Amino acid sequence: MPQDQTFIFVIHQVLVLVAGAVCLFGTWVGMRHFARARATKGSTRYGWLFMASVGTGAALWASTFISILALDPSLNSGFELVPTAATLPIAIISCLVGFEIGSRHRPALAPELGGLVMGAGILAMNYIGLKAWHISGTTQLNSAGVAITLLLGLGLSALSVNRANRPVTRWCRHGAAVVLAFMICAMHYALTVSVNAVPDMAIALSPELVPAKMLGAGVVLAVLLVIGSGFSSYIIDLKSRTESAERIHQLSFNDTMTGLPNRIAFNERLSFAAAESHELAHKLAAFSIDLDGFKDVNDLFGPSGGDQLLIEVADRMRRVLGPGEFLARQSGDEFLGLQMSGNHPHDARAFAERIAQALARPFQLQDQTVTLTASVGYSIFPTDTRERDQLLSNAKLAMHRGKSQRRAAICAYEREMDDAARARRALARDLQTAAENDELELHYQLQTTLDDGAICGSEALMRWNHPKRGMISPAEFIPLAEETEAIIGMGEWALRKACFEAAAGRLPGTIAVNLSPVQFCCDDLAETIHGILIETGLSPKRLEIEVTESTLMSDQTRGLHILRKLKSMGISVAMDDFGTGHSSLATLHAFPFDKIKLDQSFVRRIPEDAAACAIVRTVLALGRSLNTPVLAEGIETDAQWQFLLDEGCQKGQGYLFARPMPLAKLPAAMEAARQFERSEVPAIVEQVAALAVA
Ligand code: C2E
Ligand code: MG
Ligand code: MG
Repeated sequence: MPQDQTFIFVIHQVLVLVAGAVCLFGTWVGMRHFARARATKGSTRYGWLFMASVGTGAALWASTFISILALDPSLNSGFELVPTAATLPIAIISCLVGFEIGSRHRPALAPELGGLVMGAGILAMNYIGLKAWHISGTTQLNSAGVAITLLLGLGLSALSVNRANRPVTRWCRHGAAVVLAFMICAMHYALTVSVNAVPDMAIALSPELVPAKMLGAGVVLAVLLVIGSGFSSYIIDLKSRTESAERIHQLSFNDTMTGLPNRIAFNERLSFAAAESHELAHKLAAFSIDLDGFKDVNDLFGPSGGDQLLIEVADRMRRVLGPGEFLARQSGDEFLGLQMSGNHPHDARAFAERIAQALARPFQLQDQTVTLTASVGYSIFPTDTRERDQLLSNAKLAMHRGKSQRRAAICAYEREMDDAARARRALARDLQTAAENDELELHYQLQTTLDDGAICGSEALMRWNHPKRGMISPAEFIPLAEETEAIIGMGEWALRKACFEAAAGRLPGTIAVNLSPVQFCCDDLAETIHGILIETGLSPKRLEIEVTESTLMSDQTRGLHILRKLKSMGISVAMDDFGTGHSSLATLHAFPFDKIKLDQSFVRRIPEDAAACAIVRTVLALGRSLNTPVLAEGIETDAQWQFLLDEGCQKGQGYLFARPMPLAKLPAAMEAARQFERSEVPAIVEQVAALAVA
């Protein structure tokens, strides 16, 4: 190679390197801005997209022209003004459109589509730039080479935007910039082989052309613009981050009681961490932590005892926090957590387990030992949702789901939970109109004296005949009605209906009606019941109200006050589901119940299960000592009946005697029972049970 040709070759390679370096720096700055755009919304997002496009577009433009000039640095060349000037806005606008599409989450191939748009813009810029380039000589384009250049440009820019918008690790963003720089170099070499420029000094350049040197100055300006905008945005970004970090710090210690950050601080932290996790392609987990049974502690130890416990709980949880983890107090016994995780799938669960572990040791409260558990729900960003605001609601949904199943649950958000919650909301909506649409019914289950099989009364059990779903169990709709307080109207309807039927002589003995704890929130409950008795003409002696322990747990003073009023009217009060609550003895001592209904979970296990037998015996002994009759619920077999009879249980209710049935079937069931009252008891059982099933 002659010496001057070697020199030209070296200049060529240096220029290509410069083109690659300019492109790399510009696209690196651009991808940084693009990552910020993906993490933000509204006008801020467009601001970042614009910065990303100016940086990337100007860098691609400059490197393209460097690479055109590098084709043969010895050539005397110039550029047409208008098309050359048009290439810069083409580069920037195609980057803007490409990034805008590429940063969307829909359609599924948006990043690749954005990449293609960007690639097409870059190719157009390349092509126009080449066409506007004139030399003192002739140029020939090789179409196969041009086609390869085209494919390379399109493919690599799609890959770049794909990497930038679907990051798997923090390196993907840098990878995207490298791919773009590589694209410019690869396109240059593909172009080198497809353009054949032959110098011919006889061909003069038009004086209207912009000389190559002048364009070179333009390129230098563009490079300075890229570097300048890159640095200034970096500094602004860094400063605003420091400022928001400081602001978070200021807001951090606002919950004066526990010393933990408050809800506002949590929200700030969440948006900060979400932006960071976007940029670093890290996962971010949000946690909702709720103490189980904290209300009982408050009731038992008073508000100051509750506060003391919360301080200790917060302290223990704070001590197990690791780097990148954050804890805040939402309100009451609800806490919130955040964890920036290094993408390990078990990190979030490990955090939840650490929190549970921290609370596992018993607490000392006013010289008493208290054990406490927490239910934790969590959701991961961006796996579960790409919406930052949705993350916490997901975590809460998961927490409530776990809590509804058991105490101390750790539950991860699953997409189906949304469907279940939606179905639940729809059911709650339907429930609001169920009473108006006559969809509610009352079924009645007969209650029996165990030794002679005589019917002594019945329990009214609500049924919901849903127009689409058919019969829905009260176990499903009563809790829902309690949440929306629709139970207040529904309970009143059940009472009125049951009292009416009993007064009309269609129900035997006493009629038992279940009352929800929510109904006890109405101060005028006793007056309402009194009104219903007057309205229907039922003697209070024939009405029995069934309450569970939770009625007295929520507000004992108010609950007892209402129960006493009812009792003074002559209405009897039964303790339902006895044995399943918290402090059964204390409740029994608090109020003179007229009946104890032994929960079916024990009856189901007798006579095989020794522990269940012991509990049943204890409850029966308790009933005797308090002089309160015990009714066993859920008797299904002869063996259970025999056992209860032998142990001195007076009354029973269960499928063995009668299933809950509509009013229309009751006369036949009662008639069968009367006929056999003094004969063989098993025969009555068979007849009545058969009637209910029929
Ligand atoms: P509960 O008051 O303890 O009612 C007894 C439940 O046990 C009824 O379930 C009854 O059908 C069922 N049962 C009776 N005998 C047997 C048996 O031998 N085996 C089995 N496995 N189950 C038996 P149901 O009707 O599904 O009601 C469930 C709960 O819904 C009731 O439990 C009560 O807490 C609530 N509920 C029902 N109606 C009303 C209402 O009108 N108001 C309120 N607040 N709650 C109601
Ligand atoms: Mg009941
Ligand atoms: Mg019960």
